[in-house]
Amino acid sequence: MAAMVKGKTLDFAQVMHRVREVLEQLPDARRGKNRHYRMTDAGVSAFSVFFMQCASFLEYQRRMQQEQGRNNVQSMFGAHDIPSDNQIRNLLDTVKPQALEPLYDALLEGLMNEGVIERYRTLQGKVLLALDGVTYFSSTTLHCAQCSQRRHAGRTLYSHSALTPVLVQPGQDKVVALAPEFVTPQDGSAKQDCELNAARRWLQRHGSRCAEFGTVVLGDDLYCHEPFCQALRAQGLDFVLVCKPESHPTTYEWLQMLERRGDVHSMTVRRGTPRKVYIDCYRWAHALPLRDADGALTVDWCELTTTNEAGKVLYRNSFASSLPVGAQTVREIVAAGRARWKIENENNTLKTKGYRFEHNFGHGKQHLSATLASLIVLAYLLHTVLDWLDERFAHLRELIACRQRVFDDMRALATYCHFPNWSAMIAFMIQGLTDGPQPVPAPP
Ligand SMILES: [Zn+2]
Repeated sequence: MAAMVKGKTLDFAQVMHRVREVLEQLPDARRGKNRHYRMTDAGVSAFSVFFMQCASFLEYQRRMQQEQGRNNVQSMFGAHDIPSDNQIRNLLDTVKPQALEPLYDALLEGLMNEGVIERYRTLQGKVLLALDGVTYFSSTTLHCAQCSQRRHAGRTLYSHSALTPVLVQPGQDKVVALAPEFVTPQDGSAKQDCELNAARRWLQRHGSRCAEFGTVVLGDDLYCHEPFCQALRAQGLDFVLVCKPESHPTTYEWLQMLERRGDVHSMTVRRGTPRKVYIDCYRWAHALPLRDADGALTVDWCELTTTNEAGKVLYRNSFASSLPVGAQTVREIVAAGRARWKIENENNTLKTKGYRFEHNFGHGKQHLSATLASLIVLAYLLHTVLDWLDERFAHLRELIACRQRVFDDMRALATYCHFPNWSAMIAFMIQGLTDGPQPVPAPP
């Protein structure tokens, strides 16, 4: 992988070591003597399912343990023993998802220390943080104490949603997931309330750290809500948020007034090839109020309309920003605002590309649903970290261009063969792909 940071040190074994350290600190609510399994075993076993993207991974590994007296959850992921699925559910149900936050922090710090986050700097040297909400569970029958409830067509709909912040960059496929914030039943039943309340909580916990490394927050129109924008500014964060006319009547009344005064600026850029021409028309204006109130926050506004030569509109969107928009900056600010779609891409990957975000293996009574969802996002983040920093894994990804096949092969190998550690499996795959098929690792 050409984009990998060469010669870096954060590898799978080190990351798993840190994962176990954090999991060892998980609060254990059990009373009595029946404590054969450690909390780490439950956490590592569940994590291995998501990392390997294989719902039956543990079943195969328990079978391997019976037949060979060893298994890959132990050797690759460092569990002492694999609890039953029920034991894993019971143990993790008592763990709040926030208990996993130190892991996200550790991985982000690893990416920072290795210079990866520097590559995400774009607008005025800042990083772009996209916010979006995602519903990862809904049911009319199965529910727990943490489910959000909504009446729909005479029935109660139970659901779980989370805010999944990610660092994005225009032109960069890989996004860096930060700790998710889970919507609670107290956040309300309307989508806007839920997401904004969760976003406010996220901001209280992580805002100052993001401000330290210089962050511009991206979000859809829902986040372009004056009190939330005030909260972002109070934390020292900038923003570029979708700003639609329907939800911002005052802003657009002011815009019309400025237009009449000739204070809306514009710039047209032609791009494409001689056969396919795109015409980008940028417009921008300064100091528009976000709502009709004394002391309302004012923002700079910009809009991009892309047409073809026949004048057909191919794209149109408008944004509100805390950053000054001008002829020099408007293109960069619009590009940043548009980069927020990458978070929708990420949430889609979590749902459809093997992570089974919507079909995790249990619901629980307290926190299980959220804690498993957080472990899934963590597996996704670790895959990104390995892409950036684990030279061997990046080499393997180069040899097998199709991402799905990398995981299919890893899964199949780990089902039938025992490896002393994860690197040994990756080395086995690389050798097989470069020197031809290898003998299957021998049983003991
Ligand atoms: Zn629930």
